[in-house]
Amino acid sequence: MPLKLHDTLSREKRVFEPAQAERVTMYVCGPTVYNHAHIGNARPAVVFDVLFRLLQRLYPEREVVYARNITDVDDKINQKAAEEGVEIGVITERYTDIYHGDLDALGCLRPTVEPRATAHMAEMIALIEAMLADGTAYVADGEVLFDVEGYDAGTGRYGALSNRSLSDMVAGARVEVAQNKRHAADFVLWKPSKPAEPAWDGPHDPTTGQPLPGRPGWHIECSAMSEKVLGLPFDIHGGGLDLIFPHHTNEIAQSCAAHGLATNTDFARYWMHNGFLTMDAEKMSKSLGNVSLITELLERQPGEVLRWALLSAHYRGPLDWTDQLVDQARKNLDRLYGALKRARAAGGISDSAPPQLLLDALSDDLNSPAAMAVLFDAAGAVERALNDGEVETAAARAGELLAGGALMGLLQQDPDAWFEGGADDGFKAQVEALLEARAAARAAKDWGEADRIRGELAALNVVVMDGPTGATWRRG
Ligand code: AMP
Ligand code: ZN
Repeated sequence: MPLKLHDTLSREKRVFEPAQAERVTMYVCGPTVYNHAHIGNARPAVVFDVLFRLLQRLYPEREVVYARNITDVDDKINQKAAEEGVEIGVITERYTDIYHGDLDALGCLRPTVEPRATAHMAEMIALIEAMLADGTAYVADGEVLFDVEGYDAGTGRYGALSNRSLSDMVAGARVEVAQNKRHAADFVLWKPSKPAEPAWDGPHDPTTGQPLPGRPGWHIECSAMSEKVLGLPFDIHGGGLDLIFPHHTNEIAQSCAAHGLATNTDFARYWMHNGFLTMDAEKMSKSLGNVSLITELLERQPGEVLRWALLSAHYRGPLDWTDQLVDQARKNLDRLYGALKRARAAGGISDSAPPQLLLDALSDDLNSPAAMAVLFDAAGAVERALNDGEVETAAARAGELLAGGALMGLLQQDPDAWFEGGADDGFKAQVEALLEARAAARAAKDWGEADRIRGELAALNVVVMDGPTGATWRRG
């Protein structure tokens, strides 16, 4: 089955065809590094990590270029640096490291390139100067603004990504219109920095010929970085639903205006947006205060459990973050690791390709829940084969389970280590002895003794899982 992706711009699932036959380029908007990321921020990182892995399987691995930027110029960064009395670099380094650590724990591969805004000032300035020269940007009170109405010129292309007309967008935004704007929808490309804030030389004012010191707007950062590291047009542009307007809408407008590109797809060819992670049906966000930080969740759960939970719904829909979701994710992984553990103990796990059905599910606009169902089918096949004493079949099915898991960034830990959760040898021996005693008690139908031992295991924070081919355990 060919890869199909839902494209926000054309509002349909489209067969994916990269601009160049053997090279795939993808840009995903990354974090603004001024605080800890919450688990909602991890959703795009995990979703596009699965797409990255899938693309690496479908195309020559080294020809898949995945760029995810670091936004290291922003008002919130300046504010945090001022609060702590340090340079912005101290803040951005600290939170970039934390972000990397969080995503490593969630099993995300590092992107191929990770451009930083501060390293792309020259590219931003060049784009802005091209727009000033062309007349789609203008200078007002030291700011450079984008002339939305002049650019759109009644074509409707400005609102195409969010599927709205310019007048609807202005009415919907209800922002206070700054005095210096020609039109309510005009947005900032460059603005003066406040005293003591970092500033760069800036684009030249075409009237005075002088540079305009200051700093870039957020949208121009991504226009400049994506073009620099991937070239235009690139294939896939991704991010969360909240970025469609204004961020991505403005990226398209700026890049097309600066280069005189005729159609929106001359910038990026496919637009993908993940749905929101919610809590009690509200978007998880810092401003609402309903956030669970990745770092905090990792203190209580392996990253893989969080990853499973994030992938358990289709990426385009909403997903409600609850304790039950996380508990269920853990149980599901226990089940699959249990099958791998038993297959390995019985006769090993074969080298294998991922099941075709799993590839088909992911190729159908990243249908991760359907792909997970294929993993369960494989685990069921492992258990049945083991029950029937067919060790070779079990090894083959387990190999498919492992390879399918790899494609989703799951199931790559040693199964024993998964269950033992870092337990030392003495502890393991103690648990194994109790499990044997419990099995003996059950064989003798001494249910009282079996229950007593189960209680003893529970006191050690060990959860016993009785499966069709015997009991396994894990730390609770
Ligand atoms: P931000 O740091 O707010 O710009 O967000 C970084 C990325 O996370 C962007 O792609 C956002 O669209 C995405 N994002 C933020 N909040 C959520 C959420 N609650 N659910 C899903 N994605 C989100
Ligand atoms: Zn961006």
